[in-house]
Amino acid sequence: MEAVFTILCPFVTILKRMENKIMVEVAVVAPLDRTFYYTVPEEFSSRAISGMKVTLPFGKRTVTGYIVGFPDAQALAKDGSALKLKDIKDIPDPEPAFTPEILEFYRWIADYYISPLGEVIKTALPPSKGKVKKERFAAFIQSTEPPLPMTPKEEKVFSFIRERGRVSFKELNSEFNRPSDIIKRLSQKGVIAASEEEVSRNSIETEFRPSRRPDLTEPQMAAFSMITEAMNEGKFSPFLLHGVTGSGKTEVYLRVIEEALNMGKGAIVLVPEISLTPQLLNRFRSRFGDKVAALHSALSDGERCDEWRRIKRGEARIVVGARSAIFAPMKDPGVIVVDEEHDSSYKQEDVPRYNARDLALVRGKAVKGIVILGSATPSMESYYNAKISKFKYISLPVRVEERPMPQMIVVDMKDVGKKQIFSRQMTDCLEESIKGKNQALLFLNRRGFSTFMICSDCGYTFKCPNCSISLIYHQGEGVLKCHYCDYSQKAFPICPSCKGGTVGLLGLGTEKVEEEAKKAFPDANVARMDRDTMSRKGSHERILKRLEDGDLDILIGTQMVTKGHDYPGITTVGVISAETSLNLPDFRAAERTFQLITQVAGRAGRGNAPGKVIIQTFNPDHYSIKAASNHDMEYFYGEEAGFRKELGYPPFSRLINIRLRGNSEMKTAAAAKSLEKIGTDAVRGCKGMVILGPSQAPIYKIRGKYRWNMLFKGKDTGKLHSLVRNMLSRVIGSSDFRGVDVQVDVDPLNML
Ligand code: ADP
Ligand code: ZN
Repeated sequence: MEAVFTILCPFVTILKRMENKIMVEVAVVAPLDRTFYYTVPEEFSSRAISGMKVTLPFGKRTVTGYIVGFPDAQALAKDGSALKLKDIKDIPDPEPAFTPEILEFYRWIADYYISPLGEVIKTALPPSKGKVKKERFAAFIQSTEPPLPMTPKEEKVFSFIRERGRVSFKELNSEFNRPSDIIKRLSQKGVIAASEEEVSRNSIETEFRPSRRPDLTEPQMAAFSMITEAMNEGKFSPFLLHGVTGSGKTEVYLRVIEEALNMGKGAIVLVPEISLTPQLLNRFRSRFGDKVAALHSALSDGERCDEWRRIKRGEARIVVGARSAIFAPMKDPGVIVVDEEHDSSYKQEDVPRYNARDLALVRGKAVKGIVILGSATPSMESYYNAKISKFKYISLPVRVEERPMPQMIVVDMKDVGKKQIFSRQMTDCLEESIKGKNQALLFLNRRGFSTFMICSDCGYTFKCPNCSISLIYHQGEGVLKCHYCDYSQKAFPICPSCKGGTVGLLGLGTEKVEEEAKKAFPDANVARMDRDTMSRKGSHERILKRLEDGDLDILIGTQMVTKGHDYPGITTVGVISAETSLNLPDFRAAERTFQLITQVAGRAGRGNAPGKVIIQTFNPDHYSIKAASNHDMEYFYGEEAGFRKELGYPPFSRLINIRLRGNSEMKTAAAAKSLEKIGTDAVRGCKGMVILGPSQAPIYKIRGKYRWNMLFKGKDTGKLHSLVRNMLSRVIGSSDFRGVDVQVDVDPLNML
């Protein structure tokens, strides 16, 4: 009896002590792969609900966290750990930051991407810096009694307010000279009331040009019926909408969303980067007006918060945004669209390293909604998923209004020579385009003037001191720049190694193409669009406006010009060097090349005049180039799938990359050795799991950090994940990794 008592006694006291305090499970915003327990002081207990933001003591610091659960108090009391729990410090907000449903989504992400829940939540929520914007208003008060006598000035302000009913102080200030005293007196006389109200910052231009709804083409109609039928069933249904460039995919999205709104549902539309393609956003706005909220990188924190709240309150029922829009607090998003689903910008390269395309499917499944992945060049993964019927496949095989696909001309540059930038065919086409008052787009996936500078006497090349990469010459600024960090130096004509004066330029960048185009076509209006010319706000819109107004003959650019644009004046597209993406040491190089060529070609001939595309390459027989020039995705898929299957790459397996990064070359290499041992131990006995590496990353050093990759391959996602988790728990406990970052990238896209 006594023994039982002594065991029970502390347990009972602890329970007593905890009685009046709620215990909470908190996800802390920190790189820690677990949650923590805290107690809530009584004064906050009414607000201790799931999703609340809290501040709490953490070691010596005060950190932010979120309540994600309520632990079993008895269990905590039993092992005594409840006694050690600390109180949270504060619950600053009146309302929770997220709902229990969305918390499930966060948990899924944290688990799948092996990322701390707190970091997932932080990524998903808008920045807390964005304060609610408030404005003061004066409103007329209806009264039956005759108004008290007013001075003429008061009378003037009063009648201004009475006529309008309600006026902001801002407007009164601009209308009258220092009206604040008058407003105060009017308010004391009881004829107006002053108030402070929440307002939205003006992120939306108020003018919408309502657009006409075209009659759907036959394939569009078929797609529309198939999708809305599934929507009516109210079950999760993923679609791959594979439509050639200009086939009218966007129109299908618009119609489906219209149906969703009629059914009381909302929509989330993901686009690669809307600040690059203002056209698309405009199409949504001209159809749905201020029901559309936009979430993109060009918004200020305040604007982002405003849009967020408009969505939360249900005022905006359609969100158009870049990858993080998948976290929008939209109630019942019956439709989730991922436009250009193959685009690599859907993958976040920081923790949590999620892919918004895949999260669209997860969220869509949770809400039993429709998910449409749209692309003219579906990713291998999505095309495969369509083939194995995981997705319903819908094809839009022709352009609208019977516009032909552009004619594709492949030029073998081996016959032209390395010196010449434009082949004869390219020159002829550009000339014809200029003469016909049409527009041409020239695409090269490299900024700057030349790829590198080399001394022809001693072979010295100019390298970045922080990165294992050549510096790129930018003629306009007269500097050598690193494209991986901020390093730049003045360009010298003299070799720093042998002091010789024969430093030459090799390779090609957009700046040089621009110079050559201006030389070859002196009367043409030539402009360039890349990260160098687009750094100022609004520069993008300006160039696109010139394109729209027909004020440009030739636009030269990087990837930026390949995406989504719909300008009917463009008839000619030139791909300067198709090799740039093909020669990268990445198993997706061929896929990227096929996608880039197809996408940029898709900008040609979207108006009444047919399009022409010239592809310059030293590799005319490569299947990615052949497939792109024949508009033949099926051929590309067949070739590429063969190769991926043989090497066990996605979509035939799953990958997880563990990347080590450290300032010390030796320590990082030692950590890689240790990782190899842990990895080999862990993988032993795991059937079907393969390890590649660890090996130095193709770009071994970036920003002064040495980088190693270790790639895990396996067919079984669950097993692959638990293998990596096991390994990580051993890595965390080992001193071999001190001073080295261990990054986990699930379904990596960038392996350089
Ligand atoms: P995609 O997204 O497949 O490249 P878009 O949706 O941008 O194609 O459509 C290409 C062009 O055709 C756009 O200018 C669009 O306004 C127009 N369009 C789309 N559907 C129709 C239709 N049914 N009838 C007439 N024009 C259409
Ligand atoms: Zn660098």
